[in-house]
Amino acid sequence: MTVKVGVIGTGMIGLDHIRRLTEVLAGARVVAVSDINPERVAAVVERIPGARAYPTGEALIDAADVDAILIASWGPTHEAYLLHAIKAGKPVFCEKPLATTQEACLRVIDAEVAHGKRLVQVGFMRRFDHAYRVLKDTVTSGAIGAPLLYHAAHRNPSVPDTYTSDMAIIDTLVHDIDVARWLFDEEVTGIAIRAPRANSKGGILRDPIFALMDMAGGALVTVEVSVNIDYAYDIRGEMSGESGTVELAESNAVVVKSKGVAAGRVPADWRERFITAYDEEFRAWLAAAAQGTATGPSAWDGYAAQAVCDAGVRAAASGEIEPVRLRERPGLYQ
Ligand code: NAP
Repeated sequence: MTVKVGVIGTGMIGLDHIRRLTEVLAGARVVAVSDINPERVAAVVERIPGARAYPTGEALIDAADVDAILIASWGPTHEAYLLHAIKAGKPVFCEKPLATTQEACLRVIDAEVAHGKRLVQVGFMRRFDHAYRVLKDTVTSGAIGAPLLYHAAHRNPSVPDTYTSDMAIIDTLVHDIDVARWLFDEEVTGIAIRAPRANSKGGILRDPIFALMDMAGGALVTVEVSVNIDYAYDIRGEMSGESGTVELAESNAVVVKSKGVAAGRVPADWRERFITAYDEEFRAWLAAAAQGTATGPSAWDGYAAQAVCDAGVRAAASGEIEPVRLRERPGLYQ
């Protein structure tokens, strides 16, 4: 079956996902596009045979020939589009965040629970990355014994002037928050944020930061977020267990040895590092959407990540370990 997709948001990642759906993956057709900027939509639909422009996301969701929705607009718009898609009973892929407040996330959860089956997949693409999957499988296999500590690093060469200190938690650390919950299959119960002497290239930014998270089962997670570290986009992760460790390998395909030096490539940006993870994420979404449902990271995962981000922002201000309190998890997400 070909899933007829309507795309809301034609910015950086929306355009990349449209390329993915139209040029890379089988089983999908982009039939509808909407964005707050009509001229941007007009330029996009011109290049996609059979696609139509819609003046609003709501009109796109209601269109009879749209089977499933992709939300790639600005975070504060996600809640309204998600609620509309759930009301229409259509599967929806929502780029992170699910919504920008816990209350909004809970309204999405309530709507989906009332609908009675999963419709929402959230864009935590690392769960579909081959290396992360092998890392999780290794932990689950028992090869390193019971997992005790997970150490991660998220390093960006630079960020735009619009990037704020809180975005290091809400937009960047959020991926490792989701990875930690997924690897341990447990919730985060508390978070502390410390910052060393600031990187002089970051201006007034609190950069780097160091996050320490408590997992429900007693394990600990540490994450370095450095967003002005020049050299490349480098994503690290290492699990330490009772009898061994497992870590993400370097992602370069080859190592060049010359003049006494062995060198490999470090990805330039998130697109290069996670391009195949996004492809896998969308393969999974399309397969579930064809069945009228959703898979992978759920609305609950979006809510839990938002709750940890909120506690992280509080922790950065207080200097204390801030507790994470979640509502009881509905059966739909067990
Ligand atoms: P972006 O380049 O700013 O694109 C967002 C687009 O949505 C823009 O065209 C924007 O228009 C438009 N928009 C704003 N309000 C809208 C509305 N009410 N209805 C429809 N469209 C509207 O942002 P982006 O970097 O693509 O990010 C989009 C989303 O993806 C964000 O939630 C972001 O966190 C997420 N994201 C996820 C990843 C990941 O790794 N999973 C990576 C990047 C981004 P204006 O430009 O006029 O505001």
